[in-house]
Formats: sequence, C-alpha cells, structure tokens
Amino acid sequence: MFKPELVSILSDLFKITYCRERKDVDPDGGEILYGHIEDYKGEIRVFDSGREGHRTRIMLHEVFHSICDNLGIKMKHGDLDRFAVAWADTLLRNGWLANTHSALPGESNGEEKTASP
Ligand SMILES: [Zn+2]
Repeated sequence: MFKPELVSILSDLFKITYCRERKDVDPDGGEILYGHIEDYKGEIRVFDSGREGHRTRIMLHEVFHSICDNLGIKMKHGDLDRFAVAWADTLLRNGWLANTHSALPGESNGEEKTASP
C-alpha cells in the first residue's frame, strides 16, 4: 500500500493528511472535495476511500497542482486530472510504488520492510 505521510515537491515539504470523509478534505469545511493543497501551510489533504488507485490519483493530482503552479505551467484542470490518472495507473500497474522506501526522514510507505535476500 502506497500511503506516504510526507512529500517533497520542488524542495518544499508537504504533510499529507488522509480523510475518510470527503467533507473533511476542505480544511475550512465549506466544500465537499476529493483533494486539497495549501502551499503556504505545506499540507495536502486527500480523500481516502480505501481504494489505492483512487487515493494515489488524488494525491498526484494535488502534487501536479503544486508543480504546475511553481513552474508556471498552464494546464486545464481536466487535463491535469487525466495526467494524474495516467501516472497513478502507470506507477501502480508496474509495481513501481510497491517497494518504494522514502528518503524523507521518519517516512515510510506503510509497507512492512522485509529482509533483503
Ligand atoms: Zn484540482
């Protein structure tokens, strides 16, 4: 299961908070959202339905928002979301996230570490 607690985006560290209810994703409580990012607070909030593909897609969507904003890339919101879906699908289907161990201090991907052969 890929469920990091931290992500570094262009050298800026973000805490990732997972919410079991969509009403809890908006930190101001005004909207029903799937994901939310606040650059100034360094926080990404992700709706977690328990489905890894959906959670990963939402997380990547928010990461891409930050990357596009910081690099001045103009992308239609629907295109950004399709890009997130494609990346989530590619990374998960190829197992590229399954054995990832973060280089961030105190961070793991939630997997039990197994002994090296
Ligand atoms: Zn968005």
